[in-house]
This record gives sequence, C-alpha cells and structure tokens, in this order.
Amino acid sequence: MATKLEYIWLDGYKPTQSLRSKTKIVKEFSGKVEDLDNWSFDGSSTEQAPGGSSDCILKPVFVVPDPQRKSAYLVMCEVLSADGKPHESNGRATIADDDNDFWFGFEQEYFLWDPSTSKPLGFPAAGYPAPQGPYYCSVGAKNAFGREIVEEHLDACLEAGLNVEGINAEVAAGQWEFQIFAKGAKEAGDQIWVARYLLERIGEKYGVAINWHCKPLGQLDWNGSGMHANFSNTTLRTANSKEIFTAICESFRPAVAECIAVYGADNDQRLTGKHETASIHDFSYGVSDRGASIRIPLYAVDHNWSGYLEDRRPNSAADPYKVAAVIIKTVKSAKL
Ligand code: ADP
Ligand code: MN
Ligand code: MN
Ligand code: MN
Repeated sequence: MATKLEYIWLDGYKPTQSLRSKTKIVKEFSGKVEDLDNWSFDGSSTEQAPGGSSDCILKPVFVVPDPQRKSAYLVMCEVLSADGKPHESNGRATIADDDNDFWFGFEQEYFLWDPSTSKPLGFPAAGYPAPQGPYYCSVGAKNAFGREIVEEHLDACLEAGLNVEGINAEVAAGQWEFQIFAKGAKEAGDQIWVARYLLERIGEKYGVAINWHCKPLGQLDWNGSGMHANFSNTTLRTANSKEIFTAICESFRPAVAECIAVYGADNDQRLTGKHETASIHDFSYGVSDRGASIRIPLYAVDHNWSGYLEDRRPNSAADPYKVAAVIIKTVKSAKL
C-alpha cells in the first residue's frame, strides 16, 4: 500500500534551528528505520548549503507511525553534507553516548500563541489578564487556555509511541509543559523533536502558533519557558554517595560558557534569578533548590544519594541534541 513518509529535519538557522519536513511516497514500508533510504533536499533554502552546490542529505534515524495521517510515518533525520559527513547544523551527530548509558527526561515548556494578536492564548487583545498565580495546573475557562490543543497533542504523541510522562498547565497564562523521558540521549532528542513537530502541526488546525521563545513576554512579571534537562548515567543512578553527586555538579562549573552556548537563544532574558531561575552569571547547585542552576532532586537524597540531576538552565528553544551532548561531555569530565 502506498505509504506516506514525512522526512523531518532541522534547518541551519542561527541561533535557533527550526523544523522542516517533506513527504515521500513509497510503495511499501516495513516500519523499521533501517529499511528507509536516505533522501535529499535543497540546502540553499534552509541556510545549509550555497546555491551552487545545494544538495544536503537526509539520513533517517528514528521512525514512528504518524497518528494523524492515513498509512503514514514520521521520520526524524540527521542532515549530512553532500560528502556524507554530518552537517555542522547536526547536533545529534555530536552526542557521545553510543551505549545509551545516559537517560534524559526533558520538561518542554511553551506558549500557545495567537498569531493575530501576537499574544498568548488567554491574553485580551488590549492589556493583560490577571497576574500569575491561578494558571499553574489550573482547570476552568477562566484560567486554562487551549486545553483542546494540548489534549490532542498528548493523544497524538502517545499514539505515535512517544514516551510522554506527563503534561501540565504552567505558571503563565497560555503556557504549558510536556515531559518526555528516554533511555539514550539520541532517542530523547528524537522524541522531543517529533513531539514538537506534532504540536506545531496540530496548532495549524486551530490557527494557533507555538512560541518556543524563552521569554516571549519580555521582562514583565510573567514566567519564561525552560526545557529542564533531567539526566543520569550508571554512575549517578548507583552512586550511593554524596561526594559523587558533588563532583559531577562541580564538573559543570568550568563548563558554564560551553553549556550556556547551547542552552538556547536569549537565555540571559530568562535566567535572571527571578521566576524560579538562577542568574546566567552565577553557577550553583543544591538539594531541592529551584533557584539553582542544577537542582539535586529530593529523590536522589531519599535514595541514599543515587538517582539523577536536573539542569534547570536549558530553555524551551534549545536543541535537546546539543543540550544532551554537552551534558554528557561534562559529566564524563568529572573527577571521581
Ligand atoms: P519538576 O517539574 O518537579 O522539575 P517533572 O516531573 O516535570 O519535575 O520532571 C521530572 C523529569 O525527571 C521527568 O521527565 C522524568 O522522566 C525525569 N527523570 C526521572 N528519573 C530520571 C533518571 N533516573 N534519569 C533521567 N531523568 C529522570
Ligand atoms: Mn516539570
Ligand atoms: Mn515546568
Ligand atoms: Mn523541572
């Protein structure tokens, strides 16, 4: 049966890459990623190649059934240059986690955004809604805006087989979160990108845009959007040691600039020290501390210092591949 394959990739825009995709029809498909062919696209239209030699290659790396189209799949791809080497925009290829020892849980926050008013859902055309307070985990038409989109997205993710662990309404009006967990950094990134793709596409149906910017309402008293990165490896999961947790946290201190470089654009606007963030100029960690750069979850302390860490600095627009890559590199540099 004719099958629709939606090849999805990240463009070369800086500082924030966007999703691109196009459909390939094949006669038959097994459902297995290894049975998918590479494809190509015009890299001169995505800031990935000059017009004179415009071809870039799409290499399928992750495939799930497409819950919204008949006889169809979503195919996440890495971008290769014409010579077959990973393109410089390809963050996935920089992840050094071949044994999938690293587990990641990303908390993706975002705003549902009305493109006609350039404001979040729930904001009146003029002025502002009531101040923050009632919106977080709210129910009711006064405080929860856009739930039908959020619910449709959750169903679509689950039907596609993505490992969504939960959703919640966030602190600002029109702001929401979903969490995705995977054993393996590449797969965690793949799942976040496919979930973002599904959310964007569902938004189209409602004429609602997804605003991934980390501080779309500027310096007013509204929360920004993060993508907290919860991570562990065997060392953390089986540490039984406060010293190991401290050493791994300390390994992030000399890596601040390298981390911030890939933790999402405009993060200085979000990491102000207010709204449950640490200042971009500081580095700190602490048990249960939501004002720290890295939070040591109570879970780890309760499990005799074994478990995971939460880097709270990555923002909503960050590339989870690049975030995972730098976290893995930094954790591996820890002096244990
Ligand atoms: P909070 O909002 O309190 O920061 P959430 O419940 O939204 O917490 O997110 C916690 C995340 O931590 C989830 O995505 C979960 O999958 C992830 N997580 C839990 N255990 C581990 C682990 N061992 N390794 C990596 N991530 C983990
Ligand atoms: Mn959360
Ligand atoms: Mn949150
Ligand atoms: Mn969190």
